[in-house]
Amino acid sequence: MPMKESQWIWFDGEFVPWGEAKVHVLAHALHYGSSVFEGIRAYETSQGTAIFRLEPHVTRLFNSAKIARMPVPFTPEQVTEAIAETVRRNNLRACYIRPLIFRGYEVLGVDPRRCPVHTVIAAFEWGTYLGSEALEQGVDVGVSSWRRMAPDTFPAMAKIGGDYVNSQFMVMEARDRGFVEAIALDVYGYVSEGSGENVFVVQNGIIYTPPLGASILGGITRDSAITIARDLGYEVREQLIPREMLYIADEMFFTGTAAEITPIRSVDGQIIGKGCRGPVTARIQEQFFGITQGKLPDRYGWLYYV
Ligand code: PMP
Repeated sequence: MPMKESQWIWFDGEFVPWGEAKVHVLAHALHYGSSVFEGIRAYETSQGTAIFRLEPHVTRLFNSAKIARMPVPFTPEQVTEAIAETVRRNNLRACYIRPLIFRGYEVLGVDPRRCPVHTVIAAFEWGTYLGSEALEQGVDVGVSSWRRMAPDTFPAMAKIGGDYVNSQFMVMEARDRGFVEAIALDVYGYVSEGSGENVFVVQNGIIYTPPLGASILGGITRDSAITIARDLGYEVREQLIPREMLYIADEMFFTGTAAEITPIRSVDGQIIGKGCRGPVTARIQEQFFGITQGKLPDRYGWLYYV
């Protein structure tokens, strides 16, 4: 789905028109992936536009920058306020927000540290990521021939631009094979995650998801789903998952800011459970969308009204 342009982009502390938010072609990030970013959603609720879990997103952004050794020229409070202001300035209701901090133009050596650090925030209207029927019907996925990064190669816990080269290979291969998304294994062969989603497996009423050590990004939707599931009385185990456990799962689902909570109905052509959204997934979705749409009480303080 193409991006729907909005009016203003926040660029190093000022709003510039969407079409004028430009960088030099020799910007370091363009050549070496030297950027960190976030993907955040705002929802339209009956009480107005609310950004979902803004604080942990800003914290993760600054943690990614720390891991990337990128000094951010703004404080977390300034970035938080700038994100809210970007949504307001563009008169957006439900939208996707993309803060990006990157190394600009100065030198082209691989060491980025002489290059200036720029901060941008874009926000624009965006629908469901994997298709709206996907939230009900589920998606067909395949295990990727590409693995997630080994722990001593790229930092999986950081949302660094360069890490997404791996995600691109995963999703391109999946779509060429007729799947909506991929699930990659980690370097040891255990289930890791999708190209932009964490993965959950339900078996005999217990919910399983790979641990942080399985080369995953610590998803904020993952954390939300775990919180909701435990409150609903489910046992959630963060543990290593062998590939074959997927094929015999009762239910599976993805979590992610873009994908929200999307059921998985088949893996490698093998039907998962009854081949449609299962009851545990449905209960977690109901709570998640109830809170994000403002229909259920915001009992965890997840909404930041702009
Ligand atoms: N894994 C990867 C690789 C991702 O890019 C994302 C999207 N940020 C996720 C998991 C899900 O994280 P979140 O729920 O915070 O969006």
